[in-house]
Order: sequence, then C-alpha cells, then structure tokens
Amino acid sequence: MVVGGGVIGLTTAVVLAERGSRVRVWTRDPVERTTSSVAGALWWPYRIEPVASARAWALRSLEVYEALAADPDRTGVRMVEGVLGEADLDKARAWAGERLPGLRAATAEEYTGAGLWARLPLVDMPVHLPWLRQRLLDAGGTIETRTVSGLGAVGAPVVINCTGLGARELVPDASVKPVRGQLVVVANPGIRTWVVSTGGDGEMAYFFPHADRLVLGGTAEDGVWSTEPDPAVAEAIVGRCAALRPEIAGARVLGHRVGLRPARDAVRLEREPQPDGRVLVHNYGHGGAGVTVAWGCAEEAAGLAAS
Ligand SMILES: Cc1cc2nc3c(=O)[nH]c(=O)nc-3n(C[C@H](O)[C@H](O)[C@H](O)COP(=O)(O)OP(=O)(O)OC[C@H]3O[C@@H](n4cnc5c(N)ncnc54)[C@H](O)[C@@H]3O)c2cc1C
Repeated sequence: MVVGGGVIGLTTAVVLAERGSRVRVWTRDPVERTTSSVAGALWWPYRIEPVASARAWALRSLEVYEALAADPDRTGVRMVEGVLGEADLDKARAWAGERLPGLRAATAEEYTGAGLWARLPLVDMPVHLPWLRQRLLDAGGTIETRTVSGLGAVGAPVVINCTGLGARELVPDASVKPVRGQLVVVANPGIRTWVVSTGGDGEMAYFFPHADRLVLGGTAEDGVWSTEPDPAVAEAIVGRCAALRPEIAGARVLGHRVGLRPARDAVRLEREPQPDGRVLVHNYGHGGAGVTVAWGCAEEAAGLAAS
C-alpha cells in the first residue's frame, strides 16, 4: 500500500508494481490538486538534504528522465537547454561529474552575469502525472481517493508513506513545514529555453517553456500555508521575469498556481520497524526538488520495502 499520490507516491507505486508487487495507492487529493501538479518542473537539486543521498537520487532520476524524453508528448518530459544564473561551474561539474556533458559557462548574450548553460530534463507535470498514473494502472496497480487518518490503521502488510506535507499530521512529524511557492502561467511568446536567476533584487526569477505555455516563478516563503494566489506577488513575478526577457511583459496571463513544498531538514527515506511485524517505509520531505529525485527515491523505497 502506498499512501500519497503525488510524484513521489506515484513513482514509488510504479516501481513496486513493475517489480511484481500488488500495489494500491490511497490519496487524499486527486493528482491534479497535489503540490506535484504545481511544480515547474526543472530537474535540479534545489533546497534538498542530505546532499550525498540527494545527489545519488537525482543522478538516477536524470537517467530515467533522459529515457522518458524520447517520448515527450506522452511522458511530459523533454530535455531543454537553459541558464542557471549565479551558479558555479566548478561546483556543478564536481557535483554532476560526467552526467551533464554540455555543461558550460553561459555567454554574455545568453545571460547577464555569471551563469551556467545546461541541457536538463524539464517536466510538464499536468502531462507527466496522468502518464505516471496510467503507467501504474497498466502495471496492475489501483488508485483510490481516500484520506488516511493513521498509518497504523492501514490494513496492509507493507505501507509506504509518501504523503509530503501531509506527513506533518499523519506521522506526526512537526519538522515537515510548508515552503509556499507561487507561479504565473502565461501564453508562451516564443521562448524555447529556460532561465533560473536570483534576479536583480535578489529575489528568485525563473521561466520554463512548455509548448504554448510559459511557467513563470517564483517565490519560496518558509512556513506560509496560504494557497491563495496573491495578485501583487504575481505582478512582481511577471516583472522580474520580464527584466530577463522583455517579451514576457506583454504575454497573456493564463492562470496562477500556488503550491506548498513539503520541506524538511532532510528527506525522510527509511524503514521504521513496527511492533506487529508490518513494514512501514517513509518517503517524504522532498522540499523543492521532489521531481528531481523521485525515481532514485522510489527505487530506494521499494528496496527498503522488500528487505
Ligand atoms: C511552485 C513550486 C515549484 C516547484 N518546482 C520544482 C522543480 O522545478 N523541480 C523539482 O524537482 N521540484 C519542484 N517543486 C517541488 C515538488 O513539487 C515537490 O518536492 C514534490 O511535488 C513533492 O511530491 P510529494 O509527492 O512528496 O508531495 P505531494 O505532491 O504534495 O503529494 C502528497 C500526496 O499525499 C497525499 N496525502 C497527504 N496526506 C494524506 C493522508 N492523510 N491520506 C492520504 N493521502 C494523503 C496527498 O493527497 C498527495 O496525493 C516545486 C514546488 C512548488 C510548490
């Protein structure tokens, strides 16, 4: 049994089902209403600990996303070039090793200031999550919209807890906290590459192209629970992105999105022994990088469930 149907729960369920387990997913929210559906989502290890494990999970996930990018219309995953502003080339090379062969310093035409040019997976979550759900169903898994009120009450010999911020109440684990992120979706004025920058005023600014849509970000507000889009914040996001690419200023706004990143000092990915002999594995607290590490975490969680 997997509790939670965001990117972490669905990916974990897919790995388990494809390894031959009979998998049920219980999720409080339909996939379209999860934090995962809000994400941008660029493969990059933003605000995630522990560093060494996150690196291994991210690099394994990179391998999977590279393969999924062969069928972008179905999977929602594409390899897209862009600029990581204010990032250090030597550090990035040391971190990624040979796995990001095209990594280089951005030229002055590509970015004002020091930046890295990279080709990374960009995941269109409104396409990717339904594709994950279908892949699970095809592997014989099931999904039910059900809220779990206690992990001990789930009648299954193996339970994998992938509830993200929900773990705060469910475990309970007060160290899981929201980091609010707001985005603006605009009609894409013809932009084909992405940019992530800390912006002129030190605030984060980024844009991710998804076919006819451009996702503009963003914010990271620690401990803030509101999921209502703030019009003043939206205006500031558009302004910061337009400072990077002027054509964004006139782009038609298609919508606003807010998500609460499930932040924790470190991801909790471990097996917790149960007195009655049942197996409980936790896989939550992925903060701002759940998409980046999903496959590596899923495989480790599946291994813990089987051991
Ligand atoms: C604005 C924004 C931008 C982001 N950009 C990126 C990015 O570019 N790259 C990246 O890698 N990451 C990004 N992230 C982070 C990423 O979205 C998260 O790390 C990831 O979605 C976490 O996935 P999850 O499955 O753990 O959580 P969620 O998607 O929140 O899923 C949790 C699941 O648990 C279920 N649940 C909770 N409690 C219960 C319960 N009691 N009973 C049953 N079910 C329960 C929920 O219904 C849901 O299905 C971004 C996040 C935000 C908000």
